[in-house]
Amino acid sequence: MVSQNGVRREPDYEAARQAMVRDQLKRREITDSRVLWAMGDTPRHLFVPTEWRADAYSDRPLPIGAGQTISQPYMVALMLQHLALQGTERVLEIGTGSGYQTALLCQLAAQVYSLEYVSELATQAETALSQLGYQDVQIIVGDGGLGLPAYAPYDGIVVAAAAPKAPLSLLAQLANGGRLVVPVGTSTQQELRCITKHTEGYDEQRSVRCRFVPLRGQEGWA
Ligand code: SAH
Repeated sequence: MVSQNGVRREPDYEAARQAMVRDQLKRREITDSRVLWAMGDTPRHLFVPTEWRADAYSDRPLPIGAGQTISQPYMVALMLQHLALQGTERVLEIGTGSGYQTALLCQLAAQVYSLEYVSELATQAETALSQLGYQDVQIIVGDGGLGLPAYAPYDGIVVAAAAPKAPLSLLAQLANGGRLVVPVGTSTQQELRCITKHTEGYDEQRSVRCRFVPLRGQEGWA
């Protein structure tokens, strides 16, 4: 943005963020007050590449490099709402990407582990998160479809990439009462699923239609 005297001015990110919460989240079905608070407080613009910063609070995904995207704000909010976090949970995220959702998870849960396939993105996200002071998070480079058995079980697992089916390793790493949120379908069209583990099995809730980048690795597409 350039002012009348030709000086480059920063957009009003705070106002854009509050408008995002009001128009994109509250007007749809986002009602979890902790999710609304975290999204109203987290500087999404600092997780997107500089050339996309002015669009950081718009109603769509944006490129973050390596052919990947930061998810649309509404989709991030919906996934977090499905996790129904209270603040005491241990959570596993698959697909760190920009680290934006990781930052939100740090505020909504007690301990966060995040797996990213592309090491360059993991490094960028780690830098952004530490510069902003987010703690209680470990970013690990690896195939998230296999989960992270070393720290299992998890009260919540959220997958930010599309899978042909809910990965069995992730289901196995849920605690009792824990939830797995994952987009399931083809590589071009999916449905968001929320699967809860009980002592006697799993319970599946179907959510909205969506479109995520494909999950890579053993549980993704060849
Ligand atoms: N939550 C991220 C979304 C990033 S897009 C954000 O808000 O920015 C999905 C991410 O999943 C990409 O960074 C991609 O590299 C990663 N990914 C794809 N397959 C993966 C796998 N098998 N394991 C871990 N990460 C994976």
